[in-house]
Amino acid sequence: MSQINPQWQQEIAKRRTFAIISHPDAGKTTMTEKLLYFGGAIREAGVVKGRKNSKHATSDWMEIEKKRGISVTSSAMDFEYKGHHINILDTPGHQDFSEDTYRTLTAADAAVMIIDVAKGVEAQTIKLFKVCRMRGIPIFTFINKLDRHGKDPFELLEEIERVLGIRTYPMNWPIGMGSSFSGVFDRVKSRVELYQNDSDHEDIRFFEVSGADDPIIGERVGQDLWQQLQDEISLLDVAGDQFDRGLIDKGELSPVFFGSAINNFGVQTFLDNFLQLAPPPSPKKSNVGLIEPGEHPFSGFIFKIQANMNPAHRDRIAFMRICSGRFERGMSVKHVRLGKDIKLAQPVQFMAQDREIIEESFAGDVIGLFDPGIFQIGDTLCVGQSFEYEEMPHFSPEFFSKVMVKDAMKHKQFQKGILQLTEEGTVQLFRTYPMEELILGVVGVLQFEVLEYRLKAEYGVDIVLTRMPFQIARWLEGDKAALDAIKSKTVTDRYGRPVMLFESEYQLRVATEKYANIKFHESSLGL
Ligand code: GDP
Repeated sequence: MSQINPQWQQEIAKRRTFAIISHPDAGKTTMTEKLLYFGGAIREAGVVKGRKNSKHATSDWMEIEKKRGISVTSSAMDFEYKGHHINILDTPGHQDFSEDTYRTLTAADAAVMIIDVAKGVEAQTIKLFKVCRMRGIPIFTFINKLDRHGKDPFELLEEIERVLGIRTYPMNWPIGMGSSFSGVFDRVKSRVELYQNDSDHEDIRFFEVSGADDPIIGERVGQDLWQQLQDEISLLDVAGDQFDRGLIDKGELSPVFFGSAINNFGVQTFLDNFLQLAPPPSPKKSNVGLIEPGEHPFSGFIFKIQANMNPAHRDRIAFMRICSGRFERGMSVKHVRLGKDIKLAQPVQFMAQDREIIEESFAGDVIGLFDPGIFQIGDTLCVGQSFEYEEMPHFSPEFFSKVMVKDAMKHKQFQKGILQLTEEGTVQLFRTYPMEELILGVVGVLQFEVLEYRLKAEYGVDIVLTRMPFQIARWLEGDKAALDAIKSKTVTDRYGRPVMLFESEYQLRVATEKYANIKFHESSLGL
């Protein structure tokens, strides 16, 4: 493909697009806030935090969101820092955890995993990590809350490796912890960053050393902590993994940083190193081969659709990750699935809470498009020769409910509503065989409530949801005869693909052993 304008290529090369993955309360919001602060995007702390308060400013969002005081869907934030243009994709993590959270990761080129030093690797982190792993993107680790007493750092690294199956390379190492927390030793730059709440002066906070055995460390942090640091660093040097850029790029080795987000300690060091190591927008697979971000004039895919950001207009916003070239307001693009040209007139970008109309964007950026109902998750938009990006995978829901319409007279409305709302992709629809009963599957239970509310508000339909004991879905792959033989035990997804539902890991294991000629997939990717 032809090269695009060199200036655009420079813009693309500046981009770093990542998502933060963590379990609720590990410190994602605090970290995001500090990162935005470094970019000068916010002047004071508290802007991002506001979203979680019940009286947050985005007051025209869904009722249910207001009632719960949480943000139901996620968006993107961007800022400039040291010559880079950084996009942070927000991954909803509390009760609003949903498939959107997973799908957002398909729009990220790297992930930052935040771990609470006292809690270690937690459930939601494991789930999100798996999706990053599947995509093979680089994963950076920030171990947070070092100002509190937590697990021994070696124990934590061992836990990360055992539970998540990724090797680690500590870029820095804590000196003390909790009440004795004194700072971190930077293994890469061979310097110490002192933990001092009262000083912002770089020359006081940082000092160069010849190594962990430099006596000046002992003078500053005390002999005991210095001795401990020396012992731990020599253990790391001998027994730990080597720094290996190739493995980091493939997501097989995670650079680890220690710090305390709330005290803004270690955050800037993290950011500076992250920018050195994180990749610019990467090529993406399509049905005509890999599309290079700097070689193709414009393309992108829709990874999330958010409804009713303004109930007065019933508008939807489709979030697009730009994968190649440059986007300009008002440009005409091909909507490949529909086979028609459309004009993108009012693109928006989201900065914390404000929407702002944008004029141009580049590969790596995420923009919101007003959607009059023409977009579906996974749709490709491009210019020039038509092609399509890989299908957006579905992931196993964890909660299932049978759904029926209360008033049979409203059956038509119900069908229409269910189809349209499941198209947005936060709820999956399955049909039983042969009765064609409808089963809904979600990743976070709040989505049932959202769906129930919206069917009532937008389609005037009351539904009855009956919870089912299933916890796991697996997409099945096998030859037709083998699949037909177990058809009565399966359901189908919205594309008619066979899926089996299970109540427990044990049931799943039994089935995989019993039906050895069938493959059980955790997501629909590639099927
Ligand atoms: P999120 O749920 O992952 O977005 O977590 P938050 O950023 O909201 O943080 C959860 C709680 O941990 C809040 O009360 C924060 O003030 C607190 N917190 C965040 N970072 C630190 C830290 O470095 N040290 C301590 N002690 N608390 C922190």
